[in-house]
Amino acid sequence: MPVIRPLPPELINQIAAGEVIERPSSVVKELVENSLDAGATRIEVDIEQGGARLIRVRDDGCGIVPDELQLAVASHATSKIGSFDDLEHVASMGFRGEALASVSSVARFALTSRAQGVDTAFRIEVDGGKMQAARPAQHPQGSSVEVRDLFYNVPARRKFLRAERTEFAHIDDLLKSLALARGSVEFRLSHNGKPVRILKAARDETAALLRVAEVMGEDFPAQSLRIDHAAAGLHLSGWVGLPTASRSQADSQYFYVNGRLVRDRVVAHAVRQAYADVLFHGRHPAFVLYLELDPVGVDVNVHPAKHEVRFREQRLVHDFLFRTLHEALAQTRAGSTALPAG
Ligand code: ADP
Ligand code: MG
Repeated sequence: MPVIRPLPPELINQIAAGEVIERPSSVVKELVENSLDAGATRIEVDIEQGGARLIRVRDDGCGIVPDELQLAVASHATSKIGSFDDLEHVASMGFRGEALASVSSVARFALTSRAQGVDTAFRIEVDGGKMQAARPAQHPQGSSVEVRDLFYNVPARRKFLRAERTEFAHIDDLLKSLALARGSVEFRLSHNGKPVRILKAARDETAALLRVAEVMGEDFPAQSLRIDHAAAGLHLSGWVGLPTASRSQADSQYFYVNGRLVRDRVVAHAVRQAYADVLFHGRHPAFVLYLELDPVGVDVNVHPAKHEVRFREQRLVHDFLFRTLHEALAQTRAGSTALPAG
């Protein structure tokens, strides 16, 4: 008979890491989302060698009290939800309490944090799943997470890391998508010691549009329509590209549900339908759209990486999106001459 036995905790974490931590950009996603959840106004991301050597995320958020530092890195430990009811209403980016445990099981990991109202910062290090005792450190209010030598103890994953440039491009894309989600937060990204991207906090519409231009290309604002429409408990805002802003690839499509970038079938279908009459076949629309709705109306606990959501009222959401976008685009159709007949 085969023997059934419980898995050691380190292995459990490595298996969990396998679901969420695919490459360096996945680490950046988890860490920056934590910084956002901590209320950071400024987030710095420093990368070395495409993230294979170092990923460091620093924020000025609320920090972690010394007593809870170790718990932060434990699996299934979170400050964000405490009950099933909380899960149904979740408004934070995180809630699974698994990211730090996962990351620290597949890299050399350090977390330094100074909590709001606390005089001293503390640092803990985890190497190959083994945690050292917290010790005092220097840090302003907020947290820094350092992830070195990602996958050093998971050779199969390490082998699949692509060229430094490719991995960094993934990180840059990810950071752009997070920066679009939170216009009021300043983001800085550097690679091998050189600043690559500085996105200042956008406090008004003009600044917000500058950030959109930085991500979507400088022509996009002039080639797009502002959307802002609410009905039936749904609010859609953002910018949809005119047919002239369409692309040969679907690489400039950002759709956020309650601040979270998602890829969703229902959304994709509604958008495609709305553009059906105004786009040539094979062209892809460019857009940055934000859908806000009561968190109860959307399940974010569908996939570990949370790229997917499930709407409780799919039909309602679909029709609202389609109508809002179709009406906006219909105006351009009436006024434009550069469009295909029909
Ligand atoms: P989750 O985000 O799902 O709660 P994580 O493993 O990502 O799980 O983080 C565990 C906990 O550690 C969080 O709930 C939060 O309390 C704390 N934490 C992590 N990163 C930060 C940060 N940058 N600032 C403040 N607290 C943090
Ligand atoms: Mg998290």
